[in-house]
Amino acid sequence: MAADPYRTNSMDPSLLQKFLACPVCAGSVEQNASSYRCANCARDYPIRFGIPDFRLAPDPYISIADEVSKIERLNIEGKSFVDLVRAYYSITPENPPALHTRYMASMDAAIGRGAGILSKMRSRFPLSGQETLLDVGCGTGGMTIAGTRTFETVIGADVALRWLVMGKQRIRESGVNAILVCANAEHLPFRSEMFDCAAADAVVEHVADSRLMRDEVIRILKPGGAWFFVTNNRYSILPEPHVRIWGFGLLPRNVMERVAWKFRKTPYKARLHSRKQLHALFDSVGEVMLPYYETGELGPQNESIRLAWEKLRGVALIRRLAGAVVPQYFVAGMRSARS
Ligand SMILES: [Zn+2]
Repeated sequence: MAADPYRTNSMDPSLLQKFLACPVCAGSVEQNASSYRCANCARDYPIRFGIPDFRLAPDPYISIADEVSKIERLNIEGKSFVDLVRAYYSITPENPPALHTRYMASMDAAIGRGAGILSKMRSRFPLSGQETLLDVGCGTGGMTIAGTRTFETVIGADVALRWLVMGKQRIRESGVNAILVCANAEHLPFRSEMFDCAAADAVVEHVADSRLMRDEVIRILKPGGAWFFVTNNRYSILPEPHVRIWGFGLLPRNVMERVAWKFRKTPYKARLHSRKQLHALFDSVGEVMLPYYETGELGPQNESIRLAWEKLRGVALIRRLAGAVVPQYFVAGMRSARS
């Protein structure tokens, strides 16, 4: 086996208890054999496949019962991460194979992508602490794994239990320690002011209420803590990233789902924001930025594109015009030191 490129952090799974709070009433929760129970409102949150499930609402793509039975059909015992992802797609005919290949490649690239996002957050907010990181909407844990390089304690949260089950195996294979929790980004099951940093890669466009997600992420940050979101632009000049259709963002919201089904045979629930919407949402708490990339970050084959973009980004008129149709935006801020 190749040497593990990641530093093994010291996280102890029992540490999770210290972070948790009831997502409904913020009361403290206690772990039983098969669930966490809120001491205040007595709500019970099941532990499923070893993952605490604090969701108040299911993933819009699948009901909780259907998801659990699907995970059971994966027969997770003894399967590697790659085996699990393959098994998952083999029982998910509603996603076409052409998109599987693309989704799998993007899962593969997620550790590198995550490392890039975390490094940008670090250079932008060098004074924020480095002890605790929350990966919001962690999926199969790419950025979570990257986070263990520099953070002592890394927790990944996602609404999709099935991706977390796969992510758990991936974390195990990576030889690092990180904890995964199933939750809605709009109702994070954590106590306030617990994390030094929070990052979210392509999550803002998948939550039911992005304003609530914004407020929740800021709530769980310590004063002086930093957050960094990457989000896809509705009006990107490139094809929509989930369905790979040009000009998809120009369609009215109410026909997107039908068009995605007709042309890609795939369900579509994302709600990509425009630059204007992001400004309305985030100007009061942070900054909406045009994307920027470090040397080699987009791969050697795209280095000339990256350099050209670096030049263009500095031109005011280009920023204004091209700025409306870039594929993604970075949105970031710091929780004020004392509020
Ligand atoms: Zn409660």
